[in-house]
Amino acid sequence: MAVIINDTCINCGACIDECPVEAIVDEDDNPTGEEIYYVYEDKCVECVSHFDTPACAESCPTEGCIVWGEVKDGMTTLEARGDAGTPCIDE
Ligand code: SF4
Ligand code: SF4
Repeated sequence: MAVIINDTCINCGACIDECPVEAIVDEDDNPTGEEIYYVYEDKCVECVSHFDTPACAESCPTEGCIVWGEVKDGMTTLEARGDAGTPCIDE
């Protein structure tokens, strides 16, 4: 499915330009109304065919801020992904 930005996001902006498929929006465009960055799950491909690990999580300075979402049928998922809710990157 996709990765999720949680509420520890500090709106630093480091991730947004790293995404190869422009799946990330800033707090002003977050459709949930939360004042944090947001990943569109229908756009995120978990960086498959682009990078070995999620580029957004690699760039994020906030430990544990970007986590794996639930796997859903029909969505591109990274083979080496972790369980839903766990951080994409181990610090
Ligand atoms: S995992 Fe990759 S494709 Fe998904 S939001 Fe992060 S940078 Fe974009
Ligand atoms: S890099 Fe991390 S802390 Fe910064 S805006 Fe993106 S998700 Fe939020």
